[in-house]
Amino acid sequence: MSYINEFEVELRTKPKTPSLKPYLYRGLFHCGECGCLITTETQKGHNYLRCTKRVTACTQKYAREESITAQVDRTIAKVTLEAAIADQMVAELEQERTAAAASQQAAVTKLKADLAACDKQADLLLDMRLSEQIGETEYVSKKHTLVNRKAEIRGKLEAFETNRLNRFEPAIRFVLEAKHGANLLAEGNPEHKRDFLKKTGSNFFVAGQALTVTFLTHWQLVADFNSVLTSPLARQRENCENQKWRCLLSKVRTFFAENPAA
Ligand SMILES: [Zn+2]
Repeated sequence: MSYINEFEVELRTKPKTPSLKPYLYRGLFHCGECGCLITTETQKGHNYLRCTKRVTACTQKYAREESITAQVDRTIAKVTLEAAIADQMVAELEQERTAAAASQQAAVTKLKADLAACDKQADLLLDMRLSEQIGETEYVSKKHTLVNRKAEIRGKLEAFETNRLNRFEPAIRFVLEAKHGANLLAEGNPEHKRDFLKKTGSNFFVAGQALTVTFLTHWQLVADFNSVLTSPLARQRENCENQKWRCLLSKVRTFFAENPAA
């Protein structure tokens, strides 16, 4: 009986080119000094990140992968929302979503009633014309007004239909994602943390053994929120916390209203 364990399968399917070694941060970082790609190599059992120095002379030295990974953790922590705060924000957004759905439903009901009223008026108008209570010119003019009114109502109904894709969803999803950062840090899976980091920003640079990231606008909102929250002054004013997350919520809501596809 032939039995192939996972390790053997991996050996057989593993690419033979050494350049395809599956380093964690392959292709992610650039050198903060010269802009070249940062590569990883193994020396004496440790992985090191270094500048490929392909373009110009560069004075950057090696950085240990462990050190960069620790910095990735700290970077993720900056854009992670505390569960208690994230849950309050999601609850608020869900309430707003329910209220918006109710008011939208009321508006749709009203428009449908208006449409039915227009039809009734059109019938009435036709009766009046047939019984010759009104002349042809008056009939045509009033009928024209009714037709326009109906088209206007139908347009509004269609607009509601296309807006049905909830504008609260992206904001809720984002808050939950920012909350999920804490789980990733607790689980410690390096690939998952790297992928999370990628989503939060751009311009990933390493220089002087230090990692720098430019957060995307919405993630920067969370980073700003966290940096204010952890300042000693803010800690003294914990009763202001409620006000602060509402402020963050308002910024997040505005951002996703303006960038629904972000
Ligand atoms: Zn360099």
